[in-house]
Amino acid sequence: MDFNNAVEFHGHACPGLSIGYRVALLAANHFRDRSIDEELVAVVENRSCAVDAIQAINGCTCGKGNLIFKDYGKHVYTYFKRGDEKALRISLKPDALPQDEKHAALFAKIRAGTASPDEAKEFQSSHETKSQKILEMPEEELFWIREVKIEPPEKAKVYPSLVCSKCGEGFMEPLGRVRNGKIVCIPCFEAKDE
Ligand SMILES: [Zn+2]
Ligand SMILES: [Zn+2]
Repeated sequence: MDFNNAVEFHGHACPGLSIGYRVALLAANHFRDRSIDEELVAVVENRSCAVDAIQAINGCTCGKGNLIFKDYGKHVYTYFKRGDEKALRISLKPDALPQDEKHAALFAKIRAGTASPDEAKEFQSSHETKSQKILEMPEEELFWIREVKIEPPEKAKVYPSLVCSKCGEGFMEPLGRVRNGKIVCIPCFEAKDE
């Protein structure tokens, strides 16, 4: 598995993907195998491009239940093997990647659709330079890495499904809510009355 596998999965090379790739390699070397079934578990604390590298390289995916997502907006990645008490916690150092105001300004223009073709080109090349730099940086400049104790979560559970009394769609039992004395799904529970 190399960076190209991650790029293929994600659709493009970018700094976020490079961070995830470095994290994934660190974990793979530490635990020394790709998760065949659901042995290696990754807990990710953001929803950035980096997470795609972890899915592609470590084989940790949402559907298999060995990718656990916490929406903290942090570049923190914790890996463990089921049954183990120790986990590897990898955290991106806040000063690892200095802010680049010019790059950020170009990015804003691209998002707003006001970038000229030259500006778009400039952004693309600076984006690629940054991605490449992250791939080559020494580990200790990028991350804080330490072992932590964990309480492993239970294996992915299978729940019976219920039918929502309002929309008629099925949903997993623990996610049911009661509204006006009837069992409904979360979207129907939260919907405003017509
Ligand atoms: Zn990306
Ligand atoms: Zn419903």
